[in-house]
Amino acid sequence: MQTAYVNGQIIDGTGKAFRGYMIVDGDKITEVGSGDLPLTNASVAVHDIGSKTLMPGIIDCHVHLRSDGVADPRAQSASDTDAIAVLRSARNALRSLDAGITTIRDCGSRNGIDFSLRSAAQQGLCKTPRLVLSGMMICMTGGHGWPLGLEADGPDGLRRAARSQIKAGADNVKLIASGGILTPGTDIGAPQFTVEEMTAAVEEARTAGKTSCAHAHGTTAIKNAVRAGVDSIEHGYLIDDEGIEMMLERGTYLVATSSAVRNVVRHGVKAGIRPEVVRKAESAIERHVEGFKRAYKAGVKMAMGTDTGVPFTDHGKNLDELVYLVEMGVPPMEAISISTSKSAELLRMADRIGSLEAGKQADFIVVDGDPLQDIKILQDKSRILRVAVGGQVLVQRDARPQ
Ligand SMILES: [Zn+2]
Repeated sequence: MQTAYVNGQIIDGTGKAFRGYMIVDGDKITEVGSGDLPLTNASVAVHDIGSKTLMPGIIDCHVHLRSDGVADPRAQSASDTDAIAVLRSARNALRSLDAGITTIRDCGSRNGIDFSLRSAAQQGLCKTPRLVLSGMMICMTGGHGWPLGLEADGPDGLRRAARSQIKAGADNVKLIASGGILTPGTDIGAPQFTVEEMTAAVEEARTAGKTSCAHAHGTTAIKNAVRAGVDSIEHGYLIDDEGIEMMLERGTYLVATSSAVRNVVRHGVKAGIRPEVVRKAESAIERHVEGFKRAYKAGVKMAMGTDTGVPFTDHGKNLDELVYLVEMGVPPMEAISISTSKSAELLRMADRIGSLEAGKQADFIVVDGDPLQDIKILQDKSRILRVAVGGQVLVQRDARPQ
């Protein structure tokens, strides 16, 4: 039996919006068109979505499901048993789904917790968005994230580390190219892995048909990671013009995670965040906003990521990032494309997800209102009326009374 959504605004994820209809059959979209539903002999269940908007499910390319957005997520992760961490990850995946996220890339878990979550979801034990997993992040000895990361050194060490995560089930190899905001004693401007080290891991990922990404803040770290050939730079808070040029040349994506730095600065020490963490975020936020604007203007490819799971960047608030993109000069239509079709391209899933087009998986959301008029409505979960993954409606809410 087919389902047709009619009379709504369709934002297709590729930059087009029109009044029209979409037909879903099983897990796939079979037809999207403008105007009224054509007459058909097939039996079709018709949903009139009226003044609402139908758009692709949102893709968040950078989260950490294992931790909540508490003041010290590292302490939480350290005290969780693996069993608790899997349950926490499942709860966080559900919160993301509930907010309109249909695909999520976890950028660093531990002890196979992310793989256990996927297995649990496949067995029907929990509902999650589509999961793209990295296993453990790979860092140098004592590098950013080491308490939860896989430490490796030298090209051979990196090769082995990447292979071990791919063996465990990783879809993406996550590398740490610079110091980070949350790890004590690491300077965000300081590069960590060398180009040679990262090149070895990137080659392994590519050979196995996987993506790779690098956490990189400082200008040298960004360039090192781009030279090594990663698919995306994560954060890139201190990016300079040369880094922008290199990313343009090689088609490297930027996953800006504006939410992460903003939430640390906004909540600060008074909310219990360690002073060193707040100081580092404060030192980066202006350069991040300015660097992002220059990168966007220059035409650097963008995908959407939040770093949800770091202090006060909560699971289920992922769509705040679209508001920040708009605040930094991205038109609402473009912010939606970045968070759907462009993110799907980064994840090399654009043949299946990321837009409302015939033949794609039916990953979509129904939004009460028009996000092109006011992007902030996406932050309000009560306006995300329906969330479907592969044609299965996993979240459903009644529209608020007018
Ligand atoms: Zn992260």
